[in-house]
Amino acid sequence: MSREQPGFATRAVHVGQGPDPATGAVVQPIHLATTFAQEGIGRHGGYEYSRSNNPTREQLETCLASLEGGRHGLAFASGLAATTTVMLLLDPGDHVVYMEDAYGGTFRLFNNVMGRYGVTFTAVDATRPDAIAGAITDRTRLVWVESPTNPLLRVVDIAAAAHAAHDRGAWLAVDSTFASPYIQRPLQLGADIVMHSSTKYLGGHSDVLGGCLVTSDDSLAEPLRFHQNAAGAVPSPFDCWLLLRGLKTLSLRVQRQSDSALAIAEHLAAHPSVRAVHYPGLRSHPQHELAARQMGGVYGGVVSFELEDEAAAVRVLEALRLFTLAESLGAVESLAEHPGLMTHASVPSEERRRTGLHDGLLRLSVGIEDLDDLLADIDNALQQAG
Ligand SMILES: *Cc1c(COP(=O)(O)O)cnc(C)c1O
Repeated sequence: MSREQPGFATRAVHVGQGPDPATGAVVQPIHLATTFAQEGIGRHGGYEYSRSNNPTREQLETCLASLEGGRHGLAFASGLAATTTVMLLLDPGDHVVYMEDAYGGTFRLFNNVMGRYGVTFTAVDATRPDAIAGAITDRTRLVWVESPTNPLLRVVDIAAAAHAAHDRGAWLAVDSTFASPYIQRPLQLGADIVMHSSTKYLGGHSDVLGGCLVTSDDSLAEPLRFHQNAAGAVPSPFDCWLLLRGLKTLSLRVQRQSDSALAIAEHLAAHPSVRAVHYPGLRSHPQHELAARQMGGVYGGVVSFELEDEAAAVRVLEALRLFTLAESLGAVESLAEHPGLMTHASVPSEERRRTGLHDGLLRLSVGIEDLDDLLADIDNALQQAG
């Protein structure tokens, strides 16, 4: 069987990361230098100052681009730094259509920061392509969606969203953080930019903050690269190295997390104290068929579920032992949180209610521990709280 390129797991280990040509070291060194010697004025080997370009960051960017099936990867100091850099492509008067239950920090950046610079925003239920199309105006330059969404795991039809955006000359950017490139590759579905908070699955160990953008469009890569350098929100070489290390095990981690998350979602769905379970891998999920197609039958490690009310949800959170009470997601250790009181506290309460964030909602980020231990912890907490 001939293949055009090595598979995902092989690329995650090797692309951008061969042995160090100078020493043969199998793991390349971390290039901490901030400045690079020039042979003559303006004559150098591709590196002059680390904000503009750094060998360790370049390795990470090369690997990220390959994993997303894109031509250009750009690494940033956080997911929000990556999103901010996309915002810098816009001018006063430009309009953005975005997914109504976008990540809380994205909502805050759009409405509380970018609004002051004359960019306008319209929130839509992007699970309906007609809602995206209906909100686009002559001033719309960007459609911003997230899939699956946080924390309700709603799924956006990325190909349909790309169609709606491109029909009116707008770009489609997809925050694919919850899926990771192991599960979903938006550029292949027509998106112009894919964004990740690398802090989550890409890093995978709760020890590095980062963000990235990948595009195959040279005319987008150039201004993004310009603003990456001009605004300067770049990651440190050490953070880039940690992310490269994380990427090597991405496929193993996300497969395990997804397998366990599906088993936990099925278990919760059968539990009498649970009102609803949100997980794209469940047949009961309203967009299960779309998710199966778009996510290749692997649905990620985040599961949300609803208990009777906020008090019950807080009791369960406090009774969990193995699931650590913490924000964030995507790492090897399992975490649990209450979106309304924690990650989504910056979203106004009427907005939370409108987008279906029930007060009894809990979000689990399933780690790589033994499934039996995770299930026992959940059962025990539900029993103690109930
Ligand atoms: C965490 C997160 C972000 C923001 O990323 P940071 O690395 O925290 O800046 C954006 N989108 C989603 C879906 C996230 O989970």
